[in-house]
Amino acid sequence: MADYNVIVIGAGPAGYVAAIRCAQLGMKTACVDKWDSLGGTCLNVGCIPSKALLDSSHHYYFMQKEAKQHGIKSEGLSIDIAAMQARKNKIVKMLTGGIGGLFKKNKVVSLKGAARLISNTEVEVNTQIISADNIIIASGSVPTQIPVTPIDNEFIVDSTGALAFDAVPQRLGVIGAGAIGLELGSVWSRLGSKVTVFEALDDFLSVADRKIANAALKELKKQGLDIKLATQVTAATVANNEVTINYQGDQQLVVDKLIVAVGRKPHTDKLGVADIGIEIDERGFIKVDANRQTNVANIYAVGDVIGGPMLAHKGSEEGVMVAERLAGQKTEMHYDTVPWVIYTHPEIAWVGKTEEQLKAENIEYKVGQFPFMASGRARAHGNTSGMIRIMADSQTDRILGVHIFGISASELIAEAVVAMEFEASSEDLARTIHAHPTLSEAMHEAALDVDGRVIHS
Ligand code: FAD
Ligand code: NAD
Repeated sequence: MADYNVIVIGAGPAGYVAAIRCAQLGMKTACVDKWDSLGGTCLNVGCIPSKALLDSSHHYYFMQKEAKQHGIKSEGLSIDIAAMQARKNKIVKMLTGGIGGLFKKNKVVSLKGAARLISNTEVEVNTQIISADNIIIASGSVPTQIPVTPIDNEFIVDSTGALAFDAVPQRLGVIGAGAIGLELGSVWSRLGSKVTVFEALDDFLSVADRKIANAALKELKKQGLDIKLATQVTAATVANNEVTINYQGDQQLVVDKLIVAVGRKPHTDKLGVADIGIEIDERGFIKVDANRQTNVANIYAVGDVIGGPMLAHKGSEEGVMVAERLAGQKTEMHYDTVPWVIYTHPEIAWVGKTEEQLKAENIEYKVGQFPFMASGRARAHGNTSGMIRIMADSQTDRILGVHIFGISASELIAEAVVAMEFEASSEDLARTIHAHPTLSEAMHEAALDVDGRVIHS
């Protein structure tokens, strides 16, 4: 008999959620992770520490730039980076420790060590071989490196290094205007860095709706981020405590720190995936079928290591799906309703198709739009940038995509996700009563606008 019903490799949001759900469903479950603390990239060096710093830096930015409008004086304002970092570290410690508590509560056996696959039912951890009926790989991802900007973890850093600066770099370079580049670029810009972002593509946030992306680009530039699109960095050299960045052939910029944020790649290092015949694609992601099963019987994979959107909530839902399927349930996951959020200020969030995708797919659609400028609550708040856009099918009125750039977009998008999960029409949202005065009224008005019945703009 096997030692466990399930062994999960990796205790990030995909792995720890899979392990807890397996245990809840009565399976004897072990979760192996090689890091000192549980929670994976997201809790240790990703979602949580970045949001802690985004919030702290936003408070400082607010006090500096916006408090005055509210009649709040901020003379003598200063920042203590050590205290800010200590707060961030405390939040990370509390949440990662919390996973240990959840494991105990759900009777998940937590094993510390690097796991290596021996067969489709055996895993080696710390020279000991443990067995299970099924194995779930949730080994996550690591930052992609590029040869022209070798990470030295002091002057040229990846996202992990950028979360740990002990002082505000006066001049900061960022390679990649993706989620990490924009979020961490915003953190340090709000705290006083002069930030220059180098993006290879000529489209800003190419995965987002164009009108939303363009509005966000304008606002971020206004906030002081110098975003250079269609720009290739050709070299970065460190000398005299400075980084000299060469770009577009003969151009140069000297900065104090350089963050490389050009994407992440699957983490299967020393896991033994190839040794037992698990197929990977040309980019190294583990190949899975619709049930998240690999080509090897009894072995499943979830989260960043299988590709698709590299988002914590996507990995967690995959973990739940695999656990429930192992328990004989027929759980499915709807990739069409995975929400995306970029935590700039204001935030960018979306679910479903962009206007450009609808055009490319020859789908006839109607658009409703509402600017936060016309929202009473946004005005009271003092943040009127941006808009909500809703795209609905011309024939059926079914909502196909919702795109937000504006204050609290990360929370507002949840209404759109629920609506789309229930295959709602824009009329359903338009007939739903929204409290006044709230930001969610902008969603209501955008839905009304799909049918040309907007009231307040
Ligand atoms: P991971 O979280 O990477 O966890 C994998 C785990 O597996 C790690 O703990 C690792 O130690 C372990 N492991 C790997 N190999 C082995 C082995 N052989 N043996 C034992 N253990 C092993 N996503 C969002 O949705 N929202 C955000 O706001 C957000 N912000 C982010 C900010 C930053 C700076 C970064 C870097 C990422 C952010 N992400 C965000 C992405 C998010 O962190 C990932 O999508 C998520 O962590 C993926 O979860 P995972 O469980 O698949 O992998
Ligand atoms: P990303 O894919 O979001 O963005 C990388 C950017 O770098 C892209 O715009 C790409 O065109 C650009 N790029 C690539 N190579 C380049 C080069 N040589 N020079 C200049 N630009 C180059 O990746 P990321 O920002 O590193 O984030 C990694 C992953 O983590 C993403 O998949 C993201 O989904 C996830 N993440 C999510 C959140 C969130 O949900 N809020 C936050 C941070 C990270």
